Amino acid sequence: MSETDKLKDFLFDTKKCGWDNISDDTKHEIMKFSDEFIHYLNKGKTEREASSFIAEVLEKNGFVDLKDKMVLLPGDKVYYVNREKAIYAAIIGAKPIEAGLNIIGSHIDSPRLDLKPNPLYEDTGFAFFKTHYYGGIKKYQWTTIPLSIHGVIVKANGEKIKINIGEDESDPIFTITDLLPHLAQEQMEKKLKDGISGEDLNLLVGSVPFGDEKISERVKLNILKILNDKYGITERDFLSAELELVPAFKARSLGFDSSMVAGYGQDDRVCSYTSLRALLDTINPTKTAVCIFADKEEIGSMGNTGMESHVFDTFISELLNKTNSNRPNLLDKVFCNSKMLSADVDAGLDPNYASVSERNNAAYLGRGIGFNKYTGARGKSGASDANAEFVAQVRGILESNNISYQISELGKVDTGGGGTIAYILANKGIDVIDCGVPVLSMHSPYEVTSKFDIYEAYRTYAAFWRN
Ligand code: MN
Ligand code: MN
Repeated sequence: MSETDKLKDFLFDTKKCGWDNISDDTKHEIMKFSDEFIHYLNKGKTEREASSFIAEVLEKNGFVDLKDKMVLLPGDKVYYVNREKAIYAAIIGAKPIEAGLNIIGSHIDSPRLDLKPNPLYEDTGFAFFKTHYYGGIKKYQWTTIPLSIHGVIVKANGEKIKINIGEDESDPIFTITDLLPHLAQEQMEKKLKDGISGEDLNLLVGSVPFGDEKISERVKLNILKILNDKYGITERDFLSAELELVPAFKARSLGFDSSMVAGYGQDDRVCSYTSLRALLDTINPTKTAVCIFADKEEIGSMGNTGMESHVFDTFISELLNKTNSNRPNLLDKVFCNSKMLSADVDAGLDPNYASVSERNNAAYLGRGIGFNKYTGARGKSGASDANAEFVAQVRGILESNNISYQISELGKVDTGGGGTIAYILANKGIDVIDCGVPVLSMHSPYEVTSKFDIYEAYRTYAAFWRN
């Protein structure tokens, strides 16, 4: 290396491909970790399924339901399940909670199609379910793919029936049809966003009429008969159901080199899984480690399972009560002393659509975990902009642990924008920065991530709590 090369190497912040210079052992670890992540993706395709998967893993690893613990001591591990859709977990630190929390927060809801309250109808010999999409989707991506139905039906007497159809190889699947190209001249002239309308997203669920009598809606009747035989429900029970349509295909390794993961719901289950694994590695932290798995992020974090609700505050108040350290207004002080990684995915630069990214400030797959100092849109509007002092502190943790990271923006200025749960926690007084795994095809039925970045996210979260 010449003197000039050395000088350049010292002065430049050259972004490197993470796959260069890693040992065979590390590569093996990365592949193994991703296989376990793929299993989680396939087991937890909805917020309820992810939540029950996470609760089970926490239980197996010594975490106890907060309601079963009256007194909390340093090292104790607890969790709280919020209405089967969100989870908050904590490991009590050696320092008092008042010294602040180290929080990592992701979300476990993903864009999908929900059934409407009155979903079932018959049209021209077919039975369909009406849907209402959840979160930001490109509607055309949800036609002509196999879909499975997940969720719950709760009867008026409180009996709850869990539904999961289309995941088992022996299950039927469902689909939303689209027009054949031969007759799609008019449709193809439309703008892409108008090609498929929200009311066109009708799920095909059957075609056999019931009996041979001269009554109307016999296909619908047959579907209800099947559902009644199997689940004991009638049409009215759909009124108190939460049924979600998600891609039926499995998450898989992607590429000849198996370097990537393709799968539904990686926004944001890639961050929920990596933070869960990091939490399991955290033993006797100095400050109390808190892990959030939120619901409703994709539709603005509203409702009592979203981060805008006060249920999380109540969870932290309970930690104060049970460590016998609570007093008036202490919660506000706790938040002002706390630090948080908002663990949510980042937009990866896609060479096929590079024009929406600004190359100096884009996140690249394979270069490590992606940080967004701020998100927002049009002049950072709506952004929680992380303070330089906190960014420096996080950089220090990453650099001292040799973790590959990149700090980026979501696309070119004025091209679009986005947000996460970061601002909600920042508004409480917490120092927050967004960081997660860069994704291609975000919010599509089949999102793509790099296994290297997944592993670096896990290492980042573990190092943050270890610190
Ligand atoms: Mn997200
Ligand atoms: Mn999202």
